[in-house]
Parts: sequence; structure tokens; C-alpha cells
Amino acid sequence: MSGLNSQQREAIYYLDGPLLVLAGAGSGKTRVITQKIAYLVQDCGFQPRNIAAITFTNKAAREMQERVGKLLSASQANELQISTFHSLGVRILREEAKALGYKPRFSIFDSADCAGIIGDCAKTVDKATLRRLQSIISNWKNALVTPEAARHLATNEHEALAASAYLGYEATLKAYQAVDFDDLIGLPVKLFSEHPQIAEKWQNRLRYLLVDEYQDTNACQYQVLKLLTGIRAQFTAVGDDDQAIYGWRGADIDNLKKLPAEFPALKVIKLEQNYRSTVRILKAANNVIAHNEKLFDKTLWSELGHGDPIHVTACRDNEAEAESVVMKLQAHRFEHRGKFRDYAILYRSNHQARLLETQLRNQKIPYLLSGGQSFFDKAEIKDIISYLRLLANEDDDPAFIRAATTPRRGIGAGTLQALGTYAGERHVSLFHAAFEEGFAHRAQARQLEPLLEFCHFINRMQARATREPAQQVLPDLLKAIDYEAYLYDSEEQRTAQTRWANVGEFADWINRKGEEDGKTLIDMVQSIALINMLDKQNSDEIDAVQLSTLHAAKGLEYKHVFLVGVEEGILPHRESLDPAKLQEERRLMYVGITRAQRSLHISYCEKRKQARELIPCEPSRFIDEMGKDDVRFSGGKQAVAPDKATGSARLDAMKALLAGKR
Ligand code: ATP
Ligand code: MG
Repeated sequence: MSGLNSQQREAIYYLDGPLLVLAGAGSGKTRVITQKIAYLVQDCGFQPRNIAAITFTNKAAREMQERVGKLLSASQANELQISTFHSLGVRILREEAKALGYKPRFSIFDSADCAGIIGDCAKTVDKATLRRLQSIISNWKNALVTPEAARHLATNEHEALAASAYLGYEATLKAYQAVDFDDLIGLPVKLFSEHPQIAEKWQNRLRYLLVDEYQDTNACQYQVLKLLTGIRAQFTAVGDDDQAIYGWRGADIDNLKKLPAEFPALKVIKLEQNYRSTVRILKAANNVIAHNEKLFDKTLWSELGHGDPIHVTACRDNEAEAESVVMKLQAHRFEHRGKFRDYAILYRSNHQARLLETQLRNQKIPYLLSGGQSFFDKAEIKDIISYLRLLANEDDDPAFIRAATTPRRGIGAGTLQALGTYAGERHVSLFHAAFEEGFAHRAQARQLEPLLEFCHFINRMQARATREPAQQVLPDLLKAIDYEAYLYDSEEQRTAQTRWANVGEFADWINRKGEEDGKTLIDMVQSIALINMLDKQNSDEIDAVQLSTLHAAKGLEYKHVFLVGVEEGILPHRESLDPAKLQEERRLMYVGITRAQRSLHISYCEKRKQARELIPCEPSRFIDEMGKDDVRFSGGKQAVAPDKATGSARLDAMKALLAGKR
């Protein structure tokens, strides 16, 4: 326990009841969790399998597993349950599926699958509307609002439409033996509430709970925590109200305030020393966040020295910005003889990555993109996964439709429509309907033949996939469906090549996993949807620049950070300008700044190309809020701090001030 300060040690040793560690960025909250796990196992006689740690992302879970692995023996570390709320939910649901009327091999639908179903239920294909409906339904589910209750809650047109689709959506999911991401949290709550004996079983199994990034839990996750800890209430939650950035997805900062009220025995420990960033970076972060309403009093200081000033660069437009960032990064790396992986480029929205990617590729700089469109979202990978999903759960109708028609095998839209109608009447899945005599009577022989051939093929592969290791089954499956030929038939040669290479990469990944964990294909398919969700790449060993959204960078740290597109309309986002949302945007800026250990470069554009037009932009108010003492401005017409009151006298005064500073 050396190398920890006294508050950290207090937090680690405290076992007399529920504990909340409340502290600013980089103060060692996550470190408290890792060390506490080791303490529980080594000194307090806890069995590793009785401890569950909950992180915000899979990547964070992997990192924590690795760090704890260094403190414990390998077998101890393997038994620990370090996961996200979602993957913990999957574990509980797979084991208890029956009690909820699911089979253990239920499918987990990704956002695109779910949007399709909602579209069917709401009878709309309009993408913007769909996205709205999906987010409304998701928010209801996260707040544990039932379809019936939603009808009464709906206050506008969109909500009314969402409420009318919600019931059908839930019924469809159930019929497919599928759950969505929200169910991974919501269904355990339902399970534990309706079956106290199951709740008790899990309370006895998970005797100590540790939760990281507690400020971003939603109502549902809070219930899971409460139900899992039961009256024993043995848990440590760590969090920072200033880093609550998932309100838009239903996270509720009130869960922080609720804790002392609902757990009167709660002890609160604050950490104040920041071990991550230089004094200047920390000061800028503190200055920005001071503009928010304060929930809890916190102080944060650093002993890591003054450090470099923060650089703020104005760029002509977004292309110039990407170019400048990549050039600066290269020069900086050269000067400091650093590694690429010491650098992160962070931005507010996914679309901002495109120009950066182009520049990095031009300069042959390796990079990893996280939180964006991923490998697993590529059409060819989704094609293959649809087969695997079907092997795991033949009632997964969306997977059935995709697999049955890709590659084309003579099963046409007409056949599927007839099958769908019949299955609907009979309340069975497409797969089962295909085998029923009633359907055979209705269908024509030329429709039935390819359909049955496909279903028999799935049956055969299913039998193999349960028995044999993954690395044997997948290549045979690819060969049997002749996927390579299909790609070359339907795409240009070069595209087909890339796509086939991606399939190869996927197969390699499956093989590796199969060899490492001895898992069958079906075991693996069941976790793919989860990988899909937040972070997909294992970036630890690769020397590459990290490209990430601010949201996906939470909890992480990088020696050098470039924060780009820090403009009004982007950060803060133009749709988040009302007072409450603006505070969340400010927290996002705070998260961004505090990812940096040694250096921070911020940039904004004076104009931004949007749909071929150059739109004038203004630097973000957050730049101003950092204060000017530790900031160096450069570039652009106005190499000065942005100021909303642009009286020329003030501008001149500021210029003079800055000139003096340089
Ligand atoms: P965030 O709010 O961003 O999630 P955090 O509070 O979880 O941050 P950690 O990531 O745990 O902070 O710690 C930040 C850095 O400080 C890490 O590199 C960690 O190893 C280091 N650190 C934490 N505590 C100490 C300590 N007592 N001595 C030295 N280094 C420490
Ligand atoms: Mg942390």
C-alpha cells in the first residue's frame, strides 16, 4: 500500500459500510478501486469470485484486470469479476434467463437492429425520426418506465409516437428471444425485484461491489447496485460530479445526491491531490469548471510542477486545423523522442475524425480510432456475425433475414414476406415457421426448397458450433456459403479485396479468442454485441496515436493531448446551449483538459467547411474560461484570447497583455 496518500489508504481500508469516494480528475479514484480489490483478497480473506468491480467501458475493465493482475496471482485475478454494468448484466441474464422467459442463448441486438424494429412498429423509415424515437424509448427504459406508463408520460408528438411503438418493440424483441443494451440492465432489475430468492443468491455470490465512474450511472444501474448489495450494502463507489457527461443518455447525476439519503450509513471520503497533470493544466481545468454550479466542494492540487503553457491555436478552417495538429504532433514527438501512443487527439463529435484520419494517413502516422464506426459495424462483418447469431439463437429473425439473403441463394423477398406473415400468425420465429407444414402448404416448391436447404444448413452448423472449437467451424462456414466469391461478384475488385481481408481479420480474432479461452463459436458470438457497444480495439500494445471522442476518453490519460474544434456550436454543441446542457458541455471540456498529463494543445477554426460552404466560427467560450495566465495564443487574425465583449479597447488591452507575456 505504499505510494498512496492517507485519504486513499483510508478509502481502501474502510469496510464498515457503504463508501463513496468523491474527487476530481486524476486524483487516483480508479487506483483506489484496483488497490482495494487486492486488499480485499490478500488481507481480508475475500474470495476473488465474491468481488465484482464495475467500470464504464470494456477497455477500462481490461485495464483494471491487468493492473489487479500485477497485484494478485494469475488464478486469483482470473476469478475476479471486473466488467461493465452491461457485461455483468449479460452474465446474470444468461444464468437466470429461464426465470424471465428467455432461453440462455438469447441474442443481444445492436442499435441498428433495434432501430429497424422500432421503425416497423412506428411505421417510419425517416432516419432522424427513428433516432429520436429510439432515444426516447431508451431513456424510458433506463428510467424503468414501462410501455403502459409511457403512454401517460408522452407530452409531444414524438413521445406519443414512441409510446405507441414501445409496446410492439418490446413484444418483438421477446419474440426474437433478443434483448437490447438497455435490457442488459433493466432485466436484471426486473429479475431481482420479482424473484427475491434469485437476488439473494447473487447477493451472496457478489459480496463486495466496487463501482468506478459512479456519477454516470443511470436510474436502472443504480437499482442494480441497490439490489445486488442488498441490506449488507458492502460497496465502494467512486466518482466525480464534474465529470458527469452521459446525461444525454439517461445518466443521472442525482444518483450521487441520492446515495447519502438512501444509505444513511454512507461514508464519504474526498481525495485532493492530482497525480496526473501539471499545475497549469490543472489550473485551466479548475478555472473552466468553476463556471458551473457546484454540487460538492472539492479542491484539487498537483505537485507535478508548472509544466508547459497551454497552447491555443486559431486555424483558418478545419482542413488547416487537421494539417496543423498533425504537423505539431509530429514535431513535438520528434523533439521529445516520444512514442505515438503518448498522443491523443480528442474531439466532440465523431465526424470530426475524418479530416484528421486523412492527414494522419497522408503522413503515414499510425493511429487508432475509438468510439467511432468500428470494425464490427462493417457490412461484411455484420454479414458473418448474422450467421453466428443465428447459430446461437435460431429465433433471431433479423439475423435470419440477413443470413438467408447474403449471399443470395434463391430466397427472395416474396418468400420472406410469406414466411413472415405465416410466422406472425403462428407466433413462431421465421426459422421455425419454415419447417411447419402449414407453411409448406402455402409456399410454392421453388420457394420452399432453397429455404429448407438454408435451414438445414444452419441446423448442421449449429450442431458443430456447440461441440467444436471456433477455429474449426468458422472457416468451414465461410467456405460453405462461398462468401469470398460473393464479395468478388458483387463489388469492385479492390473493395472486395479489402472486405475479404476484413473477414480474414475477424476470423483471426475468433481463432485467437478460441485458442486463448477454449471457447466455442457460440460462446463468443454472445459477447460480440457487447464489444460492439463502446470500445472495440485492444489498443494497449500498439504504438499509435489515439483518436477519440471526449466521451470515449473518460477515465483515460495521455501524456500529450490535442483538443480540436473547440468552437461555439461544436463544444459547446449547438444543440446543448440551454443552461443545464451547457453545464454538461462544460464538464466535457473539463474531462478533455484533464486527460492531459504533460502538454495540452487546443485548436479552433475561424471558418468551417460544411456542405461545401465555409461557415464563420467563433472560439468556444470555454477557451476564455480557462483564464489567460497559462495560455499561449497563436495563429489566425486574432491571436488573442477570444472575448465575447469584443470592444476594441478590451481587445487592444488584451493584445498588449499577451505581447507582454510572450
Ligand atoms: P479520472 O477522474 O480521470 O477517472 P482518477 O481519479 O480515476 O481519474 P486515476 O486514473 O486513478 O485517477 O489516477 C491518475 C493517475 O495518477 C494514474 O496514473 C495513477 O496511477 C496515478 N496515481 C494515483 N494515485 C497515486 C499516488 N498516490 N501516487 C502516485 N501516483 C498516483
Ligand atoms: Mg478514473
